[in-house]
Amino acid sequence: MTPAPSKATLHYRNIFTSRTEEELDTIALVKRFMERLVGDQDFRKKLKENHENPNPVVKEYGIDIDLMQALPLWHNQYSKYRFKHEQEQEWPFADAFDRYIDQMRQHRSIIRDQGNMSESYPRFHAWRERQIARSASEIPGNYEAITHPIISFELSQGCSVGCWFCGISAAQFQGFYPYTEENATLWQDMVATVRDLFGEAAHTGFCYWATDPCDNPDYAKFIQDYYRITGYLPQTTTAAPLKNIALTREILALFKHYHCVTNRFSVTTLRQLNLIHQTFTPRELLGVELVAQNKESLSLKAMAGRAIERKKRLQEAGRNDEISKLKGDHATIACVSGFLVNMMKQTVQLVSPTRSCDEWPLGYRIYDERHFNSGEAFKAMLQDMIEQFMPENVPDESILSFRKDLTYIPPEDGKTNTFKLKSPYIEHNCNGMPFMARLGELVSIGQHSAGDVVNQLVLSGQNIRSVNEALQHLYVKGLLNDDPAYNGIATRRQAA
Ligand code: SF4
Repeated sequence: MTPAPSKATLHYRNIFTSRTEEELDTIALVKRFMERLVGDQDFRKKLKENHENPNPVVKEYGIDIDLMQALPLWHNQYSKYRFKHEQEQEWPFADAFDRYIDQMRQHRSIIRDQGNMSESYPRFHAWRERQIARSASEIPGNYEAITHPIISFELSQGCSVGCWFCGISAAQFQGFYPYTEENATLWQDMVATVRDLFGEAAHTGFCYWATDPCDNPDYAKFIQDYYRITGYLPQTTTAAPLKNIALTREILALFKHYHCVTNRFSVTTLRQLNLIHQTFTPRELLGVELVAQNKESLSLKAMAGRAIERKKRLQEAGRNDEISKLKGDHATIACVSGFLVNMMKQTVQLVSPTRSCDEWPLGYRIYDERHFNSGEAFKAMLQDMIEQFMPENVPDESILSFRKDLTYIPPEDGKTNTFKLKSPYIEHNCNGMPFMARLGELVSIGQHSAGDVVNQLVLSGQNIRSVNEALQHLYVKGLLNDDPAYNGIATRRQAA
């Protein structure tokens, strides 16, 4: 029997069922206008030139909407009224759209909470919470966008799209995992394992990574199984929605039937945006977010993977190295804090997002990688990785240091109860206990084990319980080094 829908799914369904068909039509049209506004430079120019009489401009693009009812969404002079009472009174289209977007944002944070495993698997839950805390501090620009799903399945090997900006540098497409009887049996077994081990957190799972769903013609069958087993239809993101339109329509029909989460089409060229708008009606795409990645768009691309390589090449050639029109801190497109499974290679990696850097150019850390050859082996492997890499407390023998992106700053005025950790993006004040300055100093040296640090403080007269609590606090907040590239806590190299 399919499990009951979750709180997140009920919230999502309510966004649609609480509105009339007329309201949904309006929102779909405003959404289409916004997609054109973000993705098309010429359109933006024409709109600016005709801002007093904009409706003929949108009509030219097949969007039949009275833009004067949506002024705060596009006209500079009115943008100050967004989300304000005046907007509700004066510009009903802008108000309808913003209320819809606001509910979608709330849904995103409910999804993050859905990864809560405090009851189903506390050890994995505590590890994921530490990754969330670290991400909030290390990559704050990405915080809202990353929901830290606990698992992702690749149903192909490589990706046929080959985007120049691919933040995870997907390899060339080599083939897909077909839905044969044997494969389907293994797949169903593995999804049931994820449900049984992690409960509702299985709803955060999805079925692509450095792959595109539309490269697998059987994709819809796999996600339908996922729904049947977990009660949740995984989110689909594709940059190839026009490659196999029958498959895309199948995915959209599943969305319409189950209504669990918004899908995404990545738009890589203006031509593709035009074709998508020609092929699908505004209502068909109400449940699809168009992510404008084309060069004319007002987008912010992640500085990771192939985007970094491209920037380097442009710099070396002495050319304009602009990667995207908007500027901001966007350091990774990775989102999973958990398991990355490839069904073709039959591998599992334990991963978590990080700022793209020389050690992790693809924007995620890899703690471990293993092979499985059966459903039982898959289950045992997940449990063993959790046991090995996710200690709930700092192991005594771990050599401690702070995260490499943080600089330790001792107190200036001789205070003993405080120290700071600073990065270009954030500052943490670590204080409270009378021994904090000494604790910070010992950890900053990077040569003492946890047991040694605790002993030194206890020998100087501090209470063992307070010292352990203070150390645990630094651990839980994700401030201690647990990076496999730097011999962090509970990583393979430190254990060796
Ligand atoms: S961004 Fe997505 S679609 Fe583009 S190459 Fe990478 S994995 Fe493929």
